Parts: sequence; structure tokens; C-alpha cells
Amino acid sequence: MKTPRPTIAVVMPVFNEQEVLPQTRDRLTRLFDANEDIVWCAILVNDGSHDRSPVMLEEFATRDPRFRVIHLARNFGFQAALAAGLTAAEGDAVVTMDADLQDPPELIPQLISAWRNGADVVRATRRTRQETGIRRLGMDLFHRLFGHVSDTTITPNAGTFGLMSRRALNALNELPERHRFFPG
Ligand code: UDP
Ligand code: MG
Repeated sequence: MKTPRPTIAVVMPVFNEQEVLPQTRDRLTRLFDANEDIVWCAILVNDGSHDRSPVMLEEFATRDPRFRVIHLARNFGFQAALAAGLTAAEGDAVVTMDADLQDPPELIPQLISAWRNGADVVRATRRTRQETGIRRLGMDLFHRLFGHVSDTTITPNAGTFGLMSRRALNALNELPERHRFFPG
């Protein structure tokens, strides 16, 4: 019997990303085309952008049915946009990432292999941070504080980029919290 092709949804919140979106689309398309053993779907959540992003996303979806768009009525913030995409996502596993290409989509197959080897949650972490100065200081402080007040340990330098199995996603979608800190 042939193994069925798993369906993977890539969820991305988008807020005013008109500069980078064509590249995001191109790199995802190349990845999708190069991995035909997977049924791909990109869910782009427009979080009330006021640049050309909404128009561009509609164009992507018209030209390629693998790209789907959700428009939020206004800017709700990254966490809410991500939650909206995760609720809409169908498929066997979901990949989460920022739309601005700070994390390379070309690594997605590695996340998928970890999932195929049995992982329910896969986190990609950055070896280096692009953030410097006061923002970097704030992030470090936040991670130290979070470590003190929470039983959950979060991986330092882990952002949005990662994968969840259908099982993990269902559990997350059942949580009532609307104001979330995703890496946690
Ligand atoms: N984003 C969003 N709503 C917002 C702000 C950001 O959906 O109100 C999106 C943004 O387009 C990007 C992701 O969330 O895809 C992460 O945002 P950003 O790059 O500004 O975060 P950073 O990399 O600075 O943590
Ligand atoms: Mg960013």
C-alpha cells in the first residue's frame, strides 16, 4: 500500500509586509514544488495591514490555490493573528513562521522529518539573534523573568518558527486563553 501524502499547513501572520511578500511567496512556492510528496497549504493571515499586503495576498491566492488568505477586520496583534490561522488550519501538521523571512522556509523539511520520526512539537531556534541593544536586553530580561515565574521552560532564541502535529494543535486550539505568548 502506498503511504498517503501528508497535508502540511504553513501559517503566517502578515502585518504590513509588502516589501518582502513577493520573496516569501517565491521561496514557499519553490519549497512546495520541490517536495511533491507533501500536500502543501499556506495560510496567510492579514492582521489589518494598511499597505498593499492585502491586495498582494489576494493575488497570490488567485494564482495558486495552495495559498489561502484570512483577513482580520483590524490589527489584532501577532498572537491573535497566529491563533486565527491555527484555528483555520487543516491537515496533519502545521508549521508556524513569521512572514518576514527572518527564518528560512527551506528548513521546513527538517521540521517535517522530526515530526515523521514521532515528535508532536518541533521548535527551531536561532543560533544568533539579529536583535541588539535595548531590544536584546529586554528579550534577555523577559526570558529570565519568565523562567522564574513559570513552570514551563522555554527554549532561549526560539521564536515563532516550528511545527505542531494535529494532536498538539488540537490541544492548543482547545485552550481558552486569547492573549497568548506562543513560544510558552
Ligand atoms: N505581525 C502581525 N501583527 C502585528 C505585528 C506583526 O501579524 O501587529 C506579523 C508580522 O508581519 C510578522 C510576524 O507577525 O510576520 C512577526 O512580526 P515582527 O517581524 O514585527 O516581529 P519580530 O521579528 O520583530 O519579533
Ligand atoms: Mg520579524
